[in-house]
Amino acid sequence: MGIQVDIDIAKCTGCAHCRDVCPVNVFELRPRTEMPDVVDDPTVAAKFQFRGEKSLAVLGPECIVCEACLFECEGECILITDDEGHIHRSTYK
Ligand code: SF4
Ligand code: SF4
Repeated sequence: MGIQVDIDIAKCTGCAHCRDVCPVNVFELRPRTEMPDVVDDPTVAAKFQFRGEKSLAVLGPECIVCEACLFECEGECILITDDEGHIHRSTYK
């Protein structure tokens, strides 16, 4: 089983922290106009500003499960399934 990186896109604020910290360039920020059906999660909007982009895990299988992105994700919306099937979730400081 390969490593899978999933993002709950409705909660992604576009903060770009994931892209900035990932050592293997898993994430890419894309304009949210490319995702017209996505509605921003109101519970996240109450705490953080949504920017003009959202993150996609374009190189998920490259993930080395360093967990750096999980600690920096404002929206707490990254979920990683490692190659043993264990789940790793975002927990913002
Ligand atoms: S856990 Fe994976 S996706 Fe997250 S920063 Fe580390 S290598 Fe990148
Ligand atoms: S760190 Fe989380 S909220 Fe910020 S751009 Fe990445 S997935 Fe979105």
